[in-house]
This record gives sequence, C-alpha cells and structure tokens, in this order.
Amino acid sequence: MKKEKVCNLCGRTLPVRNFYTQKTATGSMVYRSRCKECYRAVTRDYYWDNREELLKKQRRQYKKRRPYLKNYYQTHREARLKYQREWYRKRRVAKAKAARAAKKS
Ligand SMILES: [Zn+2]
Repeated sequence: MKKEKVCNLCGRTLPVRNFYTQKTATGSMVYRSRCKECYRAVTRDYYWDNREELLKKQRRQYKKRRPYLKNYYQTHREARLKYQREWYRKRRVAKAKAARAAKKS
C-alpha cells in the first residue's frame, strides 16, 4: 500500500490520509485523485458558483415528484395506517415488557 499520493489539482505529494477514499463498483477502496483540501475547495466553489442553478434544479425535481408523492400517499393510505398501528402496538408491547422487567428487579 502506498503511503503518499500526488494530488492532480495542486500537484503536492501528500500522505494518503489527506485524500478521501472512494468505493469502486468492485468493492475495493481507492483514493480520490484530489487531496481533501482541493476536493473541499472544488465542491464548495461548485456549490457557490452553481447555487442558483442547483436550487432551481431541486425545486424542479420536487415539483416533478409532488404528484407522484401525493398519489403514493393516497393509494397507500391503508397500508401506511396499518403499518403505523402495528408499530404503535409493538411499541406498547415493548413498553409493557420493560415495565414488567423493571418491577421484577
Ligand atoms: Zn490538492
């Protein structure tokens, strides 16, 4: 395992702990080609440079999803209520169990 790596943005040779790791499709870990400092600077710059565009995109995506979400809630209403009831029941049982256990000790 290499201990040092050259950042392809600032060109410095830095210890690998100064690089973020990334999981590949095959499941092995690799280091990113830019050091943490550059990576942060780039993503920060990207965010601020494209802030308006990113926010617009987010809003557009939400608008696109809204009818789907509404539809989902309507069509899954029963299932969701059932799930909720089941969840409360389980919690009640767990609480009662805990109370009984507390009394015993
Ligand atoms: Zn760098």
